[in-house]
Amino acid sequence: MSLEPLPLREELLGQQPYGAPQLDVPVQLNTNENPYPPPPAVVAAVAAAAAEVAAGLNRYPDRECLALRQDLAGYLSRDTGVALTAEQLWPANGSNEIMQQLLQAFGGPGRTAVSFAPTYSMYPEYARNTHTRWVTGRRQDDFGLDLPEVAALVQAHQPSVLLLASPNNPTGTALDLSDIRRVLELAPGMVVIDEAYGEFRRAGVPSAVELLAEFPRLVVTRTMSKAFALAGGRLGYLAAGPAVVDAVRIVRLPYHLSALSQTVARVALAHADQLLAQVSTLRAERDATVGWLREQGYQVAESDANFVLFGRFTDRHAVWQSLLEHGVLIRETGPEGWLRVSVGTPAEMQQFRTALNLTTGERA
Ligand SMILES: *Cc1c(COP(=O)(O)O)cnc(C)c1O
Repeated sequence: MSLEPLPLREELLGQQPYGAPQLDVPVQLNTNENPYPPPPAVVAAVAAAAAEVAAGLNRYPDRECLALRQDLAGYLSRDTGVALTAEQLWPANGSNEIMQQLLQAFGGPGRTAVSFAPTYSMYPEYARNTHTRWVTGRRQDDFGLDLPEVAALVQAHQPSVLLLASPNNPTGTALDLSDIRRVLELAPGMVVIDEAYGEFRRAGVPSAVELLAEFPRLVVTRTMSKAFALAGGRLGYLAAGPAVVDAVRIVRLPYHLSALSQTVARVALAHADQLLAQVSTLRAERDATVGWLREQGYQVAESDANFVLFGRFTDRHAVWQSLLEHGVLIRETGPEGWLRVSVGTPAEMQQFRTALNLTTGERA
């Protein structure tokens, strides 16, 4: 359908809504979801809490989300070993909404946001939606951060927001705290470290949350969509200094987070141990997948996330298509020639390996 007759913003003409194909395929390894559904005890607790909330749905929810922020502070303190308070936490409908709120508060017309590719393909869309100029530099060949490149880009563009995913999507690369520290020293504006995959990091890999006390312009974002197996609950959050939270509160929509969302997230946090129980299985399966792909002679990026980037193929689309024909959906993303597979259950990964062995994709 043509949108031409509508007074659509010029930069939106011809653009498509973002999203991976949602295909009905037996093995879905394309959006980095946790393949394990919540255990029955958690399902029952969510249902009971939702029933209680339902009785009060005539009222608006707590727009400051205080109880949830308290619970998030407790959880993130446990995960990172850093003491955090509710005033340092802020939740929204997925960390996608958090990013948009950050750009609404700190980006905007006449301002620039910067990131380093290959990275999350949603970032340019948040920038577009908030009228923020978007500039991307390059990561190194091993997908690590190229600090001289960061320095040059920061110098040239003076970004008010610098966004880095760690572990990075789609490469899986985690950043050293020393690199993040260096970026914070270089950058004049806000530095956002997107730790959507933080819980999957390998032992000994630190969280940027450790640097919060030192750097008031640092923001760390997290989500319950991945490790917590709560993608359908739409709950992301940030941790930062209380001033950052106050800034974001100015631009948030009133009552942006429904009573049901807040309650479901609180129940999930109260059952964190049960929901996160499969994280170690997924990490082991990830490491096994990396090892297996390397044995087959593929190039594989180091991964601290719940997915693996591998290649390189002369025609990656043909490989993606062939896997799909064998009932395995992965993601055609990242630099040319690479493909990304999310880590599923051991049975799903076996089907992935079988399907990949049946493809005859030519290596680049
Ligand atoms: C999946 C993902 C998110 C999470 O998005 P939600 O809106 O919280 O579901 C954020 N950042 C990156 C890099 C991701 O891959």
